Amino acid sequence: MGSKVIKKKGMDVEQVEPGLTPPPASSAPAFPKKPRLTGKSKKRDIPEGLWSKCPKCEELIYDRELDDNLKVCPKCDHHGAIGSRERIHSLVETCSFEEIDANMESVDVLKFTGVASYASKLAAYKKKSSLLKDAVVTGVGSIGAHRVALGVMDFGFLGGSMGSVVGEKLTRLIEAGTDRGLPVVIFSTSGGARMYEGMFSLMQMAKTCGALAYHARQRLPYISVLVNPCYAGVMASYASVGDLILAEPEALIGFAGPRVIRDTTQAELPEGFQTAEFLQKHGLIDAIIHRRDMKSKLVGYLDFMMTRRRSAG
Ligand SMILES: [Zn+2]
Repeated sequence: MGSKVIKKKGMDVEQVEPGLTPPPASSAPAFPKKPRLTGKSKKRDIPEGLWSKCPKCEELIYDRELDDNLKVCPKCDHHGAIGSRERIHSLVETCSFEEIDANMESVDVLKFTGVASYASKLAAYKKKSSLLKDAVVTGVGSIGAHRVALGVMDFGFLGGSMGSVVGEKLTRLIEAGTDRGLPVVIFSTSGGARMYEGMFSLMQMAKTCGALAYHARQRLPYISVLVNPCYAGVMASYASVGDLILAEPEALIGFAGPRVIRDTTQAELPEGFQTAEFLQKHGLIDAIIHRRDMKSKLVGYLDFMMTRRRSAG
């Protein structure tokens, strides 16, 4: 009986299959080879980003729990860094936030080059935080029943440093508040003026404060909220001139850092120096508010200030 050859078409290779089982061609076993496990490490892959260690109490916290708690440690109440968009989401009424100047981007005017060029730093941070073009998000949204001109800085973008774009966005926000008769609320967290922009960043200090002065002339309130850390050029301008200055617990706030002050004055610094609690005791800060209570407290303050304004006007 002759063997019948059947042609079988595979996916992309045409195979010729004999009709009868042919005898083994060699003595080698016809079993398929055991596939080799590929991978760089023999260790079992442990998924990343599920747990975070609290920097204060060193407890391991489930990331989802941390997110639900607005990045506040449920064990010791340590207020961790929170992104600007997440913070806005926690403050304003759903779908009420209209962003202003969302596409404004910094320009490397001075062609600054240090360890890395300013242009490459900007590109890297924009890539890292895909939703941010610079260190502040501004817009108009509703907090409770109040329409508010809201600015929220983001420490995750170049240390929340204030360059021309941060200054310009905040100035335009304050001016929008003045034009529309809205209170201004700014959450500040920053390492200071952006050194890559030299004098241009320092000029933002006067510009923002000038806009706030016009806003104040309209008898409109400005609430400044200081978030850890808040230092230098930002603290020396718009962050410290609020009608009401609030802070989050244990936020570090100051102009120069404690080491610089200690070295300059040659004096021992008091305990808790530059913390929100210390500054509240010494009169700079009006109230320290837990992140979960921030929205309800702001509503209370705005109720009071805007009602007073209406009755005065
Ligand atoms: Zn903790």
